[in-house]
Amino acid sequence: MPYRAPVEDYKFIFAHVSDMEAVAATERFSEATQDVTDAILTEAGRLTEEVIAPLRRVGDETHSVLENGVVRTPPGYKEAFTALTEGGWVAISAGPDYGGMGLPIALTTAFNEMMSATDLSLGLCPLLTQGQIEALEHHASDEIKQMYLPRLISGEWTGTMNLTEPQAGSDVGALKTRAVPNGDGSYAITGQKIYITWGDHDFGGNVCHLVLARLPDAAPGTKGISLFMVPKYIPNDDGSLGPANDLSVVSLEHKLGIHASPTAVMQYDGATGWLVGAEHKGMAAMFTMMNNARLAVGAQGVGIAEGATQQALDYAAERNQMGPIIEHADVRRMLLTMKADTYAARAIVLNCAIALDLARATGQDDWKARAALLTPIAKAFGSETGIAVAEMGVQVHGGMGFVEETGAAQFSRDARVTAIYEGTNGIQAMDLVGRKMADGGEAAARLLDEIEAHAETARASLPELAEPVWQASETLRETVEWLADEGNMPNRFAGSVPFLHGFARVLGAHYHLRAAMAEDAADGPRTKLARFYINRLLPEHAGLLAHAVAGADDLYAFTAEELTA
Ligand SMILES: Cc1cc2nc3c(=O)[nH]c(=O)nc-3n(C[C@H](O)[C@H](O)[C@H](O)COP(=O)(O)OP(=O)(O)OC[C@H]3O[C@@H](n4cnc5c(N)ncnc54)[C@H](O)[C@@H]3O)c2cc1C
Repeated sequence: MPYRAPVEDYKFIFAHVSDMEAVAATERFSEATQDVTDAILTEAGRLTEEVIAPLRRVGDETHSVLENGVVRTPPGYKEAFTALTEGGWVAISAGPDYGGMGLPIALTTAFNEMMSATDLSLGLCPLLTQGQIEALEHHASDEIKQMYLPRLISGEWTGTMNLTEPQAGSDVGALKTRAVPNGDGSYAITGQKIYITWGDHDFGGNVCHLVLARLPDAAPGTKGISLFMVPKYIPNDDGSLGPANDLSVVSLEHKLGIHASPTAVMQYDGATGWLVGAEHKGMAAMFTMMNNARLAVGAQGVGIAEGATQQALDYAAERNQMGPIIEHADVRRMLLTMKADTYAARAIVLNCAIALDLARATGQDDWKARAALLTPIAKAFGSETGIAVAEMGVQVHGGMGFVEETGAAQFSRDARVTAIYEGTNGIQAMDLVGRKMADGGEAAARLLDEIEAHAETARASLPELAEPVWQASETLRETVEWLADEGNMPNRFAGSVPFLHGFARVLGAHYHLRAAMAEDAADGPRTKLARFYINRLLPEHAGLLAHAVAGADDLYAFTAEELTA
């Protein structure tokens, strides 16, 4: 059976398991009424089911290729991208000043999930454009805004982000690309960037590269980095495409997955660029784009998880081996884990998006801190869920999961990169135990207060589910306090990944409990799924959080020489 967009699940989470109502109650998002939200979800579902889903296998088999220096995308991609632009889908959250609809990020997140479920490769093109729009809205000069924003928002032009260089991956501060003033307000950009997603394509229009580079007098490290807009074609004053800039695609990477997404090595040979934001403040500007993208990558994981789960359920319902395989206990275990974790990850990602919307609409520090806390969890848990669920999807298919025709393997291959790009999940976890705990664990404690207050309320009707959630939250609270008191950063970092997962496990249980409470029916499907999650998956938090406080000594008991001997 083809993809069915999880529109009802979104409506349910918006209505019962999030603060979406509070978003619509703000002046900024007053147009995002339930009617509007429902209509957008339904239309996004239709578009992804009918137009995008049929491309997933085509793109995987055909790949984007480089021909005579020009990227050629698989058949149907240009038409599908045109459908996205015609429907105004590229940037529904962009501000109205330059033609955007100004809708909540929560809706963009829902759309990104559906795009990722149906074609992660194509979905990356609007996703990066959205991030670029946000960076320009916040940091660019009026001139750049006027030239680029309307065209990016309409999808006539697309955007990329250029951080990575061969010697500068996680360590962005090691980048060497140079920017030299031309004396006329523009800069000459020279250097090589690698892994640039949608670095070129054949959709027409301009490809707008946001490039991190160093000015001649720049300090070493991240403090000496500036951000530049470097378009493929230098636009004329009226926005028509002028001469080609001095940049080229050297090659495309051959990858494990997302074959249709062109991942380019870009060469800049004195290309003309314009400064975005202040000199040497490029990292701050790029962070706007990266935070947007981190949330979006979390949504990518959820999308993959949803697509893989649907396909595995369909297969399990039809395949017979000593009876229908859907009746075997271990297959049940896999299918329910897939369903329960997909919901948990979706609720985490959406609640992060909604915190971001509320931070923007109210300007309140508490919402800013909530969004900042949830972003690394949404990115890492969303992507890990996509990977784990897709992998289980392969297992549910048995041998048919290992052969390519079913498409189950593609989910698994495509999902793998989500734990790597936009800051690896290890880097996300370090962010969580480092910068996000710099408040002494206050933002985390506020969230745990809410979880426990809700569990207290739930005790009356669902005591067997409320108690373990309350207990798990207390264990997490102790871990947060341990982290906040631990001055030795290597000790914090050593347990950061299990801490992030333990945190996500507890959050997932809270959102499942909220769903069960809202459903208010002991044998309702959401309550049964909550019971499965809380009884079988939540207990993992104990092991994860014990690991989180184990410190770094064991890790460094080996010297690097002993380890490699
Ligand atoms: C398909 C694809 C698309 C991409 N798209 C883009 C793009 O559009 N634009 C762009 O600029 N980049 C892009 N990237 C690059 C991506 O963001 C980097 O691959 C990523 O940041 C990791 O850098 P790296 O590959 O050099 O790995 P490394 O930094 O070498 O990391 C290797 C391992 O070491 C760990 N590690 C590194 N430093 C630390 C540390 N300080 N503490 C703990 N662990 C550490 C990492 O977590 C990882 O496990 C893309 C990559 C891929 C594969």
